[in-house]
Amino acid sequence: MEARKIRVRFAPSPTGPLHIGGVRTALYNYLFARKHGGKMIFRIEDTDSTRFVPGAEEYIIESFRWLGIDFDEGVGIGGEYGPYRQSERRDIYKQYVDILLDNGSAYLAFDTPEELTAKRAELPNFQYDASTRMQMRNSLTLQQDEVEKLLAAGAQYVVRFKIEPGQDVHVRDIIRGDVVVNSTVLDDKVLYKSADQLPTYHLANIVDDHLMEVSHVIRGEEWLPSAPLHVLLYKAFGWEDTMPAFAHLPLLLKPDGKGKLSKRDGDKLGFPVFPLEWHDPETGNVSSGYRESGYLPEAVINFLALLGWNPGTEQELFTMHELIELFDLSRCSKAGARFDYMKGWWFNREYLLQKTNEELAPDFVALLAANGVTTTADRAAQVIGMMKQKVVEYVDGQSKQVKKRGVSFINDLWPLTDFFFIAPETFDRDDKFIRKNWTGNTASEMTLLAEQLEKVEDFSVESMKAIVDPWVEETGIRPWNAWRICLVGKGQGPDMYELAAFLGKDETLCRMRHAIKTLDIEH
Ligand code: GLU
Repeated sequence: MEARKIRVRFAPSPTGPLHIGGVRTALYNYLFARKHGGKMIFRIEDTDSTRFVPGAEEYIIESFRWLGIDFDEGVGIGGEYGPYRQSERRDIYKQYVDILLDNGSAYLAFDTPEELTAKRAELPNFQYDASTRMQMRNSLTLQQDEVEKLLAAGAQYVVRFKIEPGQDVHVRDIIRGDVVVNSTVLDDKVLYKSADQLPTYHLANIVDDHLMEVSHVIRGEEWLPSAPLHVLLYKAFGWEDTMPAFAHLPLLLKPDGKGKLSKRDGDKLGFPVFPLEWHDPETGNVSSGYRESGYLPEAVINFLALLGWNPGTEQELFTMHELIELFDLSRCSKAGARFDYMKGWWFNREYLLQKTNEELAPDFVALLAANGVTTTADRAAQVIGMMKQKVVEYVDGQSKQVKKRGVSFINDLWPLTDFFFIAPETFDRDDKFIRKNWTGNTASEMTLLAEQLEKVEDFSVESMKAIVDPWVEETGIRPWNAWRICLVGKGQGPDMYELAAFLGKDETLCRMRHAIKTLDIEH
């Protein structure tokens, strides 16, 4: 038998911004498709018009563009199996609903919302299924002519799937193995509603996967409970032979591993749960995004790739190309993956350090501009070079304590670098570093150092060293910490020669004179 063509789909419902878990689902589909030379489809499942959110579709497309996940067919791309937006496929679904009605796998149900509410009140664990359907108002209990009369009078109805109880339904899942569920626990799900003439998610999803020749359904664990119903639908249509293989990905867990990751965890601990910033069109609320928070797309991809999958080695850094080579659905875990957002920082730092200072410069120039500093890309690149290996302080969302981490984002560079552009004006006498390093004769030592520096012409690191190092040797003066106070205003910053070379002769001497004057008076 000829091997089946690999075709996978990412099929979001445009009910809001794409959650980071959805991004991981799309990524795994993408890696799988690319690895096997298959096709990746982008389908919009918008049959529930009540949950439609304007802008969501565009947001999803923009997210994948940013992340570098590209599709072969679908909304905004086209393809032979279109249209790819379910709201444009109404007529197709109706035909398939009729197939199920004709072969006895489905029936019409006329129960009004009031009747259903009454039934629920009467039977506490009411479920519309084989045990109750004969007590309801549907085409199984009504006479044929009554049904026709109702339809002629324009009565609203839904089409329900008629599930035969007592059979074992097998979901063959690449990650979870054979998942068996007894059909008795399933209810007669609504497949179609006459009110809006639209199918529900279940029917549209199965019909489209079939018509679009989807070979593998790779999706989040939250869809596992629907899978037995989907298997039964394939059978009811007689499509068992082309039923896709399933792979239900592990849940993303809270950072502490206790329960499912939610948007609230992100808000509380201070990490984004959406790829891009999202402006809620209804409430005006803004939720943070990975892009706007300064993450590099490569870092987000690498981080997500390892949340539920591993290559079986110690390697942690992968290019997209390497991920495609190594990806294997059978190496995905069943157990939930803890969303360790600090590991995301680490990935971002690694990718940041892989970039050249020149590549990082435009974003840093923008950050400086936002803080009122104008500079060139060249000068920005020099500062990045001096400061990217430094550590910054942050407030830990859990303990509220101040902790340290390596520079992980361009944004971490401010206020770490303010003194490169803004001269220190005042000096904090209570600062430990200043108290310790500015003593009785420091001002005169700095005056002597300034005299040496006056002699340096081109003010390069080498020329300064050639003059200052022998002077240090000769006089025994250790000028470094006090010089730092002059140029930085505190006990931080890069190598002093490098800083002085960056500032230039005039600025360096000007800052020294100002510090000598100010600190001498204060002393
Ligand atoms: N429309 C569903 C969603 O929003 C698709 C689930 C599936 O992949 O079958 O994720």
